Amino acid sequence: MNLKCINCSSLFDTDSILYNCSKCNDLLEVEYDLDKISNNLGSNWRDSPLSVWKYQDFLPIPDGVERVTLQEGGTRLHNSKKLSSFLGIDELHIKNEGDNPTASFKDRGMTVAVTKAKQLGAKIITCASTGNTSASLAAYGARGGLKRIVLIPSGKVAYGKLSQAMICGAHVLQIDGNFDKCLEVVMELSSKYEDIYLVNSINPFRIEGQKTIVFEIFEQLGHVPDWIIVPVGNAGNVSAIWKGLNEFLQLGIIDKLPRLVGVQAEGSAPISAAFSEGKMEVNYIQKPETLATAIRIGAPASWKKALRAIYDSNGLATTVSDKEILEGQMNLAKLEGLFIEPASAAPIAALKKLLRNGTISSDEEVVCIATGHGLKDPDIITKFVEKPTEVSSNIDEIQKVIKK
Ligand SMILES: *Cc1c(COP(=O)(O)O)cnc(C)c1O
Ligand SMILES: [Zn+2]
Repeated sequence: MNLKCINCSSLFDTDSILYNCSKCNDLLEVEYDLDKISNNLGSNWRDSPLSVWKYQDFLPIPDGVERVTLQEGGTRLHNSKKLSSFLGIDELHIKNEGDNPTASFKDRGMTVAVTKAKQLGAKIITCASTGNTSASLAAYGARGGLKRIVLIPSGKVAYGKLSQAMICGAHVLQIDGNFDKCLEVVMELSSKYEDIYLVNSINPFRIEGQKTIVFEIFEQLGHVPDWIIVPVGNAGNVSAIWKGLNEFLQLGIIDKLPRLVGVQAEGSAPISAAFSEGKMEVNYIQKPETLATAIRIGAPASWKKALRAIYDSNGLATTVSDKEILEGQMNLAKLEGLFIEPASAAPIAALKKLLRNGTISSDEEVVCIATGHGLKDPDIITKFVEKPTEVSSNIDEIQKVIKK
């Protein structure tokens, strides 16, 4: 097992504290000896319940290392019949990552990264965050007994997420700048001080945990869907999904790959812009805007991995407006009873468009990744949804109001 540079292919030890290639500064990824994995997989590994650590053979943590876990993964996959017929598609499934311990998919990566941090002897962990990463870091840091520092943009962090970070004892620093600025600062901080370990998704161990999302989807469906649609912010998750799929393919566990759709909000769409011009480079956006704060990112760190994933899968990157995002969020809640946060609804909004313009056809099977729980950001709802009706406790008056 090695860390491998995605640009110059230099190899590094997985026990080194390294976030970028020390030769060319590009991103790193974990590379396994796949033969060893296939020898290790017992015939009954599929029978055990779903969880991130079920797939330990595919994780960069050797047996015997003490895990920092809150029992993440094993999230529900909902066959969403009413939303499917509303959108005009036969088979639509929602992978509800809000089921995770801190209510977003970030926990899948965090359990692995914090376990690794402890194994490497780190005492302090840090991240830049639009909210969910800091909530997750705070929880896993508490669990693992590590000091935790999170940098968030001033304002624009949903209150649910901020309160999670605070209650779990993270030192929360609000920076006057957006997420991209925060990431710049923590990268400098962690490179200057070796005892401060960075767990943003440029940390290749985060990606390893997150890829288990597609292992589970495959097991839950019993096959690979035609499309997987995922919101894209810093672009770690779409990269993780593609890596996981390719590992399963190389081992012969699956025999085809789905096409990936990366969805960004119109005001924060550097990857989608690059894709629509057929480019392999992104231009950062200085002032990203969207009410889907989890994907309000103009300089996605993992853009290169993400673009490769999207092109290689014969997929696409696209954008949706904030209005379409809110509509998608509301449709899912009203038709299926699932409450997810705005960023998580971007795939549903995108699916509606892609069905309408014929990119996806009604007989193809789609999985949308619902990345985080709706209670993360309750303010959005009170702003955009009809307020409760004020009425006296008088029964006659209540009846009048109901009849309307
Ligand atoms: C972090 C996050 C995203 C974006 O994921 P990336 O890996 O940064 O692309 C999307 N939705 C939610 C709810 C998130 O917390
Ligand atoms: Zn390199």
